[in-house]
Amino acid sequence: MTDHLVAALDIGGTKIAGALADDGGSLLVRAQRPTPAEGDAESVMGAVDAVLTELASSPLWPGVGALGIGSAGPVDAAAGTVSPVNVPAWRGFPLVERAGAAVGGLPVVLVGDGVAMTAAEHRLGAARGHDNALCLVVSTGVGGGLVLGGKLHAGPTGNAGHIGHISVDLDGDLCPCGARGCVERLASGPNIARRAVDGGWRPAPGEDATAAAVAAAARAGDPVAIASYERAAQALAAGIAATATLTEIDIAVIGGGVAGAGDVLFAPLRRSLRAYATLSFVRRLTVAPALMGNDAGLVGAAVAAAAVAAGGRSGALRAKAAR
Ligand SMILES: [Zn+2]
Repeated sequence: MTDHLVAALDIGGTKIAGALADDGGSLLVRAQRPTPAEGDAESVMGAVDAVLTELASSPLWPGVGALGIGSAGPVDAAAGTVSPVNVPAWRGFPLVERAGAAVGGLPVVLVGDGVAMTAAEHRLGAARGHDNALCLVVSTGVGGGLVLGGKLHAGPTGNAGHIGHISVDLDGDLCPCGARGCVERLASGPNIARRAVDGGWRPAPGEDATAAAVAAAARAGDPVAIASYERAAQALAAGIAATATLTEIDIAVIGGGVAGAGDVLFAPLRRSLRAYATLSFVRRLTVAPALMGNDAGLVGAAVAAAAVAAGGRSGALRAKAAR
């Protein structure tokens, strides 16, 4: 049996999803468990083991040559550890070693979820055919990843492209990361909702104050809701323009729940980009909605693992065989 298949895990605060995939990123077999996010470290690992055990029961398993893991961050791909913000029991958890042992010593590749989403969009989604791209996930937080020179650029620890914590407002509000005026502090879903509420907008009775509710209000013409999205778009545009000026990306792909606002976000984002991306070599920069949806994390983890299984190991993607 040739090693033309890979296993993939997508680890988040609500679910642990797994799949077997071919080297093109097509998902063939799936398994999923809820994340026991409030449990101890071993109960979370137990859910990972359950997903891997279910995948290993597939008749396709003998063709698996590597395991790719995309995880909520922060991750440390060099150390093989993860510390997902929404899984408090995992701080510096040695996921690469533990998962590697669970899959009998197959090579394991770990990337952050933003980098995984980028790998998926580059292989099969909106960044396909672009050698230089930034992909963003705008939801509860703002994450991202980079493709440079046709290759995923994960960086030494797997976090390169984390645009949410670039400061675009020097004296702006404190961000939970400790800096001020981060893109995430201005553009994440909770911050879009908070800013609208601060400006006097209120959700309909019985409805929560979410970014989606603000988007609906903006579509109905509510000026405070429109202004909150315009401010988020401005922050994203400044961060994207800075990235383009540094790296000559020619497309920014935007996914995550906030991208579901559609033109409420994308129209002011395109306007703001023209204001910030002004030099000749960045004026062709475009933005596009992500195409991979909920499967982006799994597909991206599979694509990252396939690169290793094929022996095309890049310096940025560190694989470790478990002992
Ligand atoms: Zn920050």
